[in-house]
Amino acid sequence: MSVEDFDVVVAGGGPGGSTVATLVAMQGHRVLLLEKEVFPRYQIGESLLPATVHGVCRMLGVADELANSGFPIKRGGTFRWGARPEPWTFHFGISAKMAGSTSHAYQVERAVFDDILLKNAKSKGVVVREGCSVNDVVEDGERVTGARYTDADGNAREVSARFVIDASGNKSRLYTKVGGSRNYSEFFRSLALFGYFEGGKRLPEPVSGNILSVAFDSGWFWYIPLSDTLTSVGAVVRREDADKIQGDREKALNTLIAECPMISDYLSNATRVTTGRYGELRVRKDYSYQQDSYWRPGMVLVGDAACFVDPVFSSGVHLATYSALLAARSINSVLAGDLDEKTALNEFEARYRREYGVFYEFLVSFYQMNVNEESYFWQAKKVTQNQSTDVESFVELIGGVSSGETALTAADRIAANSAEFAAAVDKMAAGDGDDMVPMFKSTVVKQAMQEAGQVQMKALLGEDAEPELPLFPGGLVTSPDGMKWLPHHPV
Ligand code: FAD
Repeated sequence: MSVEDFDVVVAGGGPGGSTVATLVAMQGHRVLLLEKEVFPRYQIGESLLPATVHGVCRMLGVADELANSGFPIKRGGTFRWGARPEPWTFHFGISAKMAGSTSHAYQVERAVFDDILLKNAKSKGVVVREGCSVNDVVEDGERVTGARYTDADGNAREVSARFVIDASGNKSRLYTKVGGSRNYSEFFRSLALFGYFEGGKRLPEPVSGNILSVAFDSGWFWYIPLSDTLTSVGAVVRREDADKIQGDREKALNTLIAECPMISDYLSNATRVTTGRYGELRVRKDYSYQQDSYWRPGMVLVGDAACFVDPVFSSGVHLATYSALLAARSINSVLAGDLDEKTALNEFEARYRREYGVFYEFLVSFYQMNVNEESYFWQAKKVTQNQSTDVESFVELIGGVSSGETALTAADRIAANSAEFAAAVDKMAAGDGDDMVPMFKSTVVKQAMQEAGQVQMKALLGEDAEPELPLFPGGLVTSPDGMKWLPHHPV
């Protein structure tokens, strides 16, 4: 059997796999992505976060395509949750990190969203092969040196690579090859029963695109608008109540809906979809877990292959795409000869665990139902150790931007700031004394005058981001383009 050679082989073409493959190929490396299914394929996980849409997707070059795809705009979330009987709503836009044009995410049909990311990977130079299932890795001592897969015609194939990335989600067993065990949380062990409805009610404008999450005696419901008429509806029940979703799924879902007055009301004139991609009532365990280790020499886990945390904050695609960004930086740095593998991948793992840990720890307190939302906001500030207010800390955590990573928040603002700065400079150059006023009113110029540093000026001009500190003592910082790691040299 002839063995092809690539720099990187990625197993799985979900958001995690497409993202890491694209960001590595964009640095000129040879990347092969093997996907078991033929896209578009169904997947659950429809509610996105701003960090994915405006951070990672902008780096991938698909932010404009997403904006033009007609996905419902998610400005935040509406919860009937905790001690207060009335629903409460949060808006991403109250945080300065997600202000203005970055203050929303989308609700997406995953078949469409994942296909956009996979096609984009192809257009950025990734060799994509669908209908190809990765079965095993090739090892040479401690190191993973390649992968074995079955191609679309059923032939056994082998490929060698400097890195194999497992982005094959939570069902594949490939992750076991990284060693160690998968640790399941005792706290988050729920099951979800879900389907799709036509004609459900909508929240009032301007929050009609929000995710609606409603707690009830047996657990909670998600209610996600996927178009003007189509809604994704799922009941999440605790493991102790698993019998409530056994047997006839239609009957079980109807019983759970009847238990929850707000969802019953929203679905009162709706009809369940019974044909096509959305016709099936599905059940998924949403047990939370994480691996002992997220990498070994030559192999890296991203997305659900590495860890998963309870879906109430829609963090799955964020963790998949963010971990893919972190992995891509590490691999790009190693392939460029800038860093050794251990230094680069330890940074990936530390940052990924931190983000997972923030969601995990906060979610534990979010399941305390006898308190009001103010208590959740306070907890979010405690968990993130954020300088912002309580409510901003909450919104930043569940917007996926609590790490303070410039790449997740600033892409749009750096561009907008540059435009504002350029316009102010043009105006001053062209005008008389009065024209000084808008110049000094510019937030960009105010910042520049306050800091007056070379690096900040570069940031304002879009050549560089704000000066960044390592997330951990002795850790690395991101390169100006966000694609690699750099050693940190304190000045
Ligand atoms: P996946 O999206 O699972 O992609 C993995 C890909 O690998 C698939 O295309 C699969 O076909 C392919 N594959 C599998 N095995 C192989 C193999 N051997 N070889 C090659 N390819 C293979 N997340 C959110 O962001 N928002 C939500 O609202 C949300 N709701 C959720 C609700 C529930 C009930 C659950 C269980 C999860 C939810 N999630 C949500 C989480 C979300 O589904 C996942 O976190 C996300 O899809 C992970 O992306 P991924 O790229 O890691 O894996």
